[in-house]
Amino acid sequence: MILYKHFDTNEKGHLTVGGLDTVELAQEYGTPAYILDENVIRENCRVYKQAAIDAFGADALPLYASKALCFTGVYRIAAEEGLGIDCVSGGELYTAKRAGFPAERIYFHGNNKTDRDIADAMDMGVGTFVVDNEDELAAVSAEAVRRGITQRILLRITPGIDPHTHRAIMTGNVDSKFGSAIVTGQAMRIVKKAIAADGVKLAGLHCHIGSQIFDVEPFAEAADIMIRFIAEIKKECAYEIRELNLGGGLGVRYTEYDREIDYADAIHKIAAVVTGFCRDNGIAMPRVILEPGRSLVAAAGVTLYTVGSVKEITGFKNYISVDGGMPDNPRYALYQSQYTALIANRAAAPRDYRATLAGRCCESGDLLGEDMEIQKAKRGDILAVLVTGAYNYSMASNYNRLPRPPVILVKDGKARVAVRRETYEDLVALDQF
Ligand SMILES: *Cc1c(COP(=O)(O)O)cnc(C)c1O
Repeated sequence: MILYKHFDTNEKGHLTVGGLDTVELAQEYGTPAYILDENVIRENCRVYKQAAIDAFGADALPLYASKALCFTGVYRIAAEEGLGIDCVSGGELYTAKRAGFPAERIYFHGNNKTDRDIADAMDMGVGTFVVDNEDELAAVSAEAVRRGITQRILLRITPGIDPHTHRAIMTGNVDSKFGSAIVTGQAMRIVKKAIAADGVKLAGLHCHIGSQIFDVEPFAEAADIMIRFIAEIKKECAYEIRELNLGGGLGVRYTEYDREIDYADAIHKIAAVVTGFCRDNGIAMPRVILEPGRSLVAAAGVTLYTVGSVKEITGFKNYISVDGGMPDNPRYALYQSQYTALIANRAAAPRDYRATLAGRCCESGDLLGEDMEIQKAKRGDILAVLVTGAYNYSMASNYNRLPRPPVILVKDGKARVAVRRETYEDLVALDQF
């Protein structure tokens, strides 16, 4: 086992994922390639769904925050596992529609929905809009009135948790492009407008405090603030908020230096404090929605590359270059995300070498990690970066005109192509002259 039980080595010393030999997968599908263990995604969905129902009651619903990994197959999996989804763009909505995802279980997010997004989402019958701000409320209300419908909405609220108290938190602070803040009075103002607005039904509130959070405490703090706000709305507006979406953000173990996290346990702990806060504030327990992204899909993934040049710069770093890089995984370039890497064809050997993993783009910042523990590598080796299921394929680009890798789903000893590799033909398909 390497980090997770679905990553292991076989008798050849090769890395396996879901029991399949990654060196053989690389031979069959080429590199770079994203490999995903479908059973891991399904198992994570079940853990969240069961824990949410046990802890919050039968109407609790986890939504898969699909920006983490988006293609039709992943929406089919989420639908089969009984989850809702969170979409943030017309493109994600369209993909969900093509996958046949039930529209009533879609929550439409985003801090700047265009008029076209709003119209497309209403055409699809999207169940719930998560309205970010007053301009958007007016636009959603106007379009719903024009169509003669009542659109169910939540309002995105910024609970105003001081980001300095919790380093991981980046989106729940007052100075944010997301949502309306409670402390500035903007939150109460948009609530009153939403209650009065035509064409919309205010069903609840949403908050999302950030990502890669390992402690329950920031969620408890956010829930406390949100529930007190719900009590204030009840008092000031005589209006009952019946749904509370607590967002996503539970952390993922990317390296052996990260803590392990028991998602069911975290959900039960959050539920205990939410129940207490509701009682203390004299409000009925709302329907609780959770919005995990990375914690459903990250661990399922591994990216396979072929090693090209290996450079040892005397007195400086060692570089291992691979046939991918920031176009398939921009996360190190964006925010120095840490990963576990190994040589898949010598995975059982100790990782007793240190190297910087370089991509193939014309950017010095095109790195997958620096000073990483790995086996010594040579040209032609297969290099695996683990835990790449989230925010890799969904963030991929064609920089340097590199075709995007395929997504291969592994399940019960079999592999299938979920997204085929882009071709050079695909790259020029949109060019008009
Ligand atoms: C990104 C995001 C999520 C998911 O965050 P993870 O860290 O991937 O769990 C959930 N809700 C909203 C609104 C988000 O922006």
